[in-house]
Order: sequence, then structure tokens, then C-alpha cells
Amino acid sequence: AGGNRVQIFTDELRAPVQEKIAAEARVRRALAGEQRITLPLWFQPVASSSTGQILGAEALVRMRTPEGEILSPFHFIGAAEETGLIVPLGEHVLRSAIDHLLHWSDRLGYVSVNVSPRQLAEPDFVPMVASILSRLPGFDPSRIVLEITETAVLSSTVDVSERLTALKQLGVRIALDDFGTGYSSLTWLKSLPADIVKLDRSFVAGLAEDPKKNSIIQAVLWLARSLGMSTIAEGVEEPADWEALRAAGCPAVQGYLFSKPLPAADFDEMLRRHHER
Ligand code: C2E
Ligand code: CA
Ligand code: CA
Repeated sequence: AGGNRVQIFTDELRAPVQEKIAAEARVRRALAGEQRITLPLWFQPVASSSTGQILGAEALVRMRTPEGEILSPFHFIGAAEETGLIVPLGEHVLRSAIDHLLHWSDRLGYVSVNVSPRQLAEPDFVPMVASILSRLPGFDPSRIVLEITETAVLSSTVDVSERLTALKQLGVRIALDDFGTGYSSLTWLKSLPADIVKLDRSFVAGLAEDPKKNSIIQAVLWLARSLGMSTIAEGVEEPADWEALRAAGCPAVQGYLFSKPLPAADFDEMLRRHHER
């Protein structure tokens, strides 16, 4: 390219761009109601660390392609965020999650959904949630948990704390997702009106064998508790880690050890079996 600069533009660099464009087009088609391509929700239970009882579930979006392939959010959430499609996608996720919760009403306490920074920054976000709730007379809004990440807070152009306060006034609960992966977590804990802290998997994995991790977890659990927040440990894969979390007083766990995220029909089956115990 002249001077000392060399420009490289190979297929390897082009491929991710094309993939992103393709992903965006697919999300658009799915949201437009095209039959052959859908955005189903999968559900991963959150269990009591002491009793193993299912307390709630996190809704995790997937894409089902016309070929029947199931794609993880990794393949399309980024593109949806960049193009703003995450806004209608997020609304679809929230509506669908609530539909499922109503269906499982007597068997499932709450459902949590992930809210991206872009959604939270939309002036229409809080009114949209309010409008959904207004059509559900008698429904307890605290059975909806909105998960937000620290990056959402840091990157946002709006006053996130104000927005979360408005959401809390509607009665929904707020969870701080991926806690421990950011940089200003303590400030964040103090300034945001959250109800639940979700400890990131990087903190949780190998906890039982790592005294330092254990100390950090204990400190975070203590901190969350004294700020009146509940805690969920994410990514629990090892029985020893579950036991360490239980012993440390972490009330709830989520992870492959208890269950992977399941398609709605399989989750339904799991709830059924769970309640027959
Ligand atoms: P997340 O919110 O942190 O969700 C947890 C992820 O960890 C899920 O991946 C889940 O399948 C995975 N996971 C759960 N237990 C374990 C475990 O024991 N071990 C390991 N290794 N992984 C575990 P998934 O479903 O692929 O979702 C990835 C991310 O995509 C989510 O991370 C979330 O940030 C995003 N996402 C998913 N659904 C939505 C959505 O509807 N809207 C938005 N904005 N983002 C979403
Ligand atoms: Ca989450
Ligand atoms: Ca997480």
C-alpha cells in the first residue's frame, strides 16, 4: 500500500464480514415471520444450591436455519447488535419468554432474559416492557428478571442507573450478568439498583481447588448479601464446585452439572419430572 504499510485482504478476513451480513439477513427474515427460519428460546434451569429445587430459568436464544441447524447466539447476536436488529430481536425474546413462563406458571418461579446495551439505550425500552406487563393483569412482574452486563453499563450513552430504576418501578427484577469479568465491579455494585448478581463462570470453575478463588467468592457473596442482593453462580460443571458454593452460602447455581440449556419441549419434560419427585 506504499510506505511501510502492507495491506492484507484475504478470504480469511472477508469470511467473517460475509458471515455477519448473512447472519443479519437471517435474523431479519426470522423476525419477518419467515416460516423456515426461527428464533426459538432454550431454557437453562437455575437451581437452589442446597435443595436442588428449580427456582427459575434463563432464556437463551437460538437460531433454527431452514436446514434445521441450531445456531448459538455467538453466530448472530453480534451482527444483530451492530445493525440495531437486536431491538426487535430482544422484544421477541422477552415476549416469547413470558409466553413460556405463563405456560409453566405453576411449575416455574421466574424467567430471566438477556438485555443488550443497545436495547437498554432505546428510549422505547421501558415503555415496551410496561406495555407488555399492562396486558397481563394479575401477573407478578418480579417473575421477570432482566440480565444486563457491565459492558452494557460502561458503553452506554444513557443513564443506565436511571433506566434500571424505571424498570424496577415496573416491578421486574434486575440481574448483573457476568459479574467479575469487568473492571469497575465494585462501583457498579454500589451504584446500580440490582436484585441479583450472577457470578461469571471464570470465577466459579475450579473453585474447590483454588483457595484464592474461594476467598474472592466468599467476599463477593458477603458483599452482595450486605447490599441486599441475591447471588447465582454460573457455569457450574463440577460437583466439588457446587459443594464449595453451597458451603460458602451461595444460594443458587446454574450450569451444565445440573442441566444444559434445553429446547422448550425438553425443558417442559424436565419440569414435569422435577415436580413428580
Ligand atoms: P450468558 O448470558 O452469560 O449465558 C450463559 C451462557 O453460558 C450460555 O451460552 C450457556 O449455554 C452457557 N453455559 C451455561 N452453563 C454452562 C456451563 O456449565 N459451562 C459452560 N462452559 N457454559 C455454560 P449461550 O446460550 O451460547 O449464550 C451465549 C451468550 O449469548 C449469553 O451469555 C448471552 O450473552 C448471549 N445471549 C443469549 N441469548 C440472548 C438473548 O436473547 N439476547 C441477548 N442480547 N443476548 C443473548
Ligand atoms: Ca445471561
Ligand atoms: Ca453470564
